[in-house]
Amino acid sequence: MFPDLIPSVLAEAPDIRGRLLPNVPLSYLTWLRAGGPAQALFTPADEDDLAYFLSRCPADIPVTVIGVGSNLLVRDGGIPGVTIRLARGFNATAPLDGARIKAGAAVPDVRLAQAAASAGIDGLAFYRGIPGTVGGALRMNAGAHGSETRKVLVEARALDSVGTLHVFDNGGMGFTYRHCSVPEDYIFTGAVFEGTPGDPAEIEKAMQEVAEYREANQPIKSRTGGSTFKNPPGQSAWKLIDAAGCRCLRVGGAHMSEMHCNFLINGGDATGAEIERLGELVRERVFQHSGIMLEWEIKRIGILAREDSQLAAAE
Ligand SMILES: Cc1cc2nc3c(=O)[nH]c(=O)nc-3n(C[C@H](O)[C@H](O)[C@H](O)COP(=O)(O)OP(=O)(O)OC[C@H]3O[C@@H](n4cnc5c(N)ncnc54)[C@H](O)[C@@H]3O)c2cc1C
Repeated sequence: MFPDLIPSVLAEAPDIRGRLLPNVPLSYLTWLRAGGPAQALFTPADEDDLAYFLSRCPADIPVTVIGVGSNLLVRDGGIPGVTIRLARGFNATAPLDGARIKAGAAVPDVRLAQAAASAGIDGLAFYRGIPGTVGGALRMNAGAHGSETRKVLVEARALDSVGTLHVFDNGGMGFTYRHCSVPEDYIFTGAVFEGTPGDPAEIEKAMQEVAEYREANQPIKSRTGGSTFKNPPGQSAWKLIDAAGCRCLRVGGAHMSEMHCNFLINGGDATGAEIERLGELVRERVFQHSGIMLEWEIKRIGILAREDSQLAAAE
């Protein structure tokens, strides 16, 4: 448990309209279902409320944003400061002229795909298979089935650490593979995407194919964070992991999936530390076997539990 931060936040930002709660367990807000609490969790009412909070939040209180936690490992000591999770006030979609669609940062990717299909906008069906939100897709340049966010984004709105609004066009996002170069402390609030005009029934069919592919090839009903490591240039992470003998490798309650060995699974009661140690063990073994050091795709956030930091210090 962290000390209660709410009084010091409210002293500086008394007029926030969203929900601000102390010591909120985050494990149930992430796909991996592990890790410690947020010292404070803020769910802003809308973009103005978030801008107000950021403009007033004392500079010594760290601010972290999460989506729906489908690419996140929260460490067991939790996240100090204020964690922001966008919800209702950022949850709308609206079709625009020219095969474009606007979506708030809390819109699930699946819903973005569905809204685009209903509006006859082709090219966004790949989002049907990605279980994150628009905010996470912008930060991660999420992609699948031969497409990615970079290929369909027109512009994104973001607030900086003092609440000033910035609008980035596609080039300004600095997208590369599963990465965007907008400063880490900017919070995306919404975006406009563009596809091509298409037949809703055909797009629905493409989405169905995406869903069936996922069902057959990925452990999507497990506690996982999707691909654990990025594919190194010209290589497949899963092939390197398999060749290094890490399929099904286990540390405590965590193991590498048998179905898709770049997916790391919490078998039920794994701690954040066990999950992270498993990932590090895989990296070490792959490096010994192939000379390639895999790069984490899953974002690891927060601090170690006290006993783990003592262990790390002793090593
Ligand atoms: C079963 C499964 C399958 C997956 N398949 C794919 C796939 O095919 N392709 C793919 O690319 N990914 C895939 N993923 C990973 C994940 O879904 C994506 O990375 C997704 O974009 C993360 O979105 P999120 O809302 O869950 O973000 P989170 O996991 O909560 O956060 C991820 C990162 O985004 C940042 N972030 C979140 N919201 C915002 C915001 N509003 N402003 C600024 N930063 C923000 C966080 O700070 C963090 O750094 C998969 C995951 C799972 C569990």
